[in-house]
Amino acid sequence: MLISMNVNATEEQMRAVCTRIEELGFRPHPLTGTSRYVIGITGNKDLSAADQLSQMPGVAEVIAVTKPYKLVSRDMKPEDTVVRFAGSDATVGGAELAIMAGPCSVESRDQIFRVAEAVGKGGARFLRGGAFKPRTSPYAFQGMGEKGLEIMAAAREAFGLLVVTEAIDQESLALVEQYADMIQIGARNMQNFALLKQAGRTRKPVLLKRGMSATLEELLMAAEYIMSEGNYNVVLCERGIRTFASHTRNTLDVGIIPAAKKLTHLPILVDPSHAAGERDKVVPLALAGVAAGADGLIVEVHCDPDRALSDGAQSLYPDQFAAMVGQVRGIGEVLGRTLPQPGHPQPTGAGVSK
Ligand code: PEP
Ligand code: MN
Repeated sequence: MLISMNVNATEEQMRAVCTRIEELGFRPHPLTGTSRYVIGITGNKDLSAADQLSQMPGVAEVIAVTKPYKLVSRDMKPEDTVVRFAGSDATVGGAELAIMAGPCSVESRDQIFRVAEAVGKGGARFLRGGAFKPRTSPYAFQGMGEKGLEIMAAAREAFGLLVVTEAIDQESLALVEQYADMIQIGARNMQNFALLKQAGRTRKPVLLKRGMSATLEELLMAAEYIMSEGNYNVVLCERGIRTFASHTRNTLDVGIIPAAKKLTHLPILVDPSHAAGERDKVVPLALAGVAAGADGLIVEVHCDPDRALSDGAQSLYPDQFAAMVGQVRGIGEVLGRTLPQPGHPQPTGAGVSK
């Protein structure tokens, strides 16, 4: 259910409608960034009671949303969502393409500082790197944990990059929320509903990666879980799915980008690294993703990939990354999308809550 207010409705009328929605036992979601006041309504109860809201002052229309996902839907919010970050002018979903880069895993302070400097110079505004790693084998490197988050936060201060890092369970999410600018929910946890709800109760933007066999509708429903708890800053990410094709680690589903754009206002990134599995296929997939309308890229980069503790084979060398960003800039120009000038970004001090 969706309430569309009159163009000249007052904030007081809007607040009154929200209060009434709560009295009826539902949850109001006032949506910002729209050309008029719009309030989404969610709740487990029968929403027909909400019909009476149509008589309230300032209400233009009560619209039934028939899709299973509500808050993520373009019916609810026709304008694209632009995700912003405290203390930074970086965005995801605006005109500027978001470039996130860094190693698969945080391995040491020296490793992160070297790669952070390199990707910053190469054109990234976001530093990626996992401190909590969801590994197929219990015997594989599981990540540095909180120490790894401290290193990422230190790199943010030193190089002015925003930090995106993965949470794999409720305990790590509580830590990631404190240290990171953006919380990554990985493919394996896309339908960990308890984790999604907890991420929805934070106030940090969430990068939600598509599960390796999830449909678009399942991805949107996972995003709905986060938004239903009040966190509207969700960014989707296509990272390749399981198919019969074995020439890449996963099959990059480029078609999901225009399909998602039609159904949802949320931004969508492409992760060409986990789709490719091998370095030489990463750049073409990255370019394809941007050409298809992705809002940016998240790419694995390592200064010494042969010695990486995870995903070395698919990690770009810094100079390959910088060259890729140059090509992305060219494609962006055709599409009316910009990229930040490469160079050493200024420390922002953004997002530090510790
Ligand atoms: C990662 O980003 O390193 C990762 C584990 O990705 P995914 O969840 O897409 O496999
Ligand atoms: Mn990885």
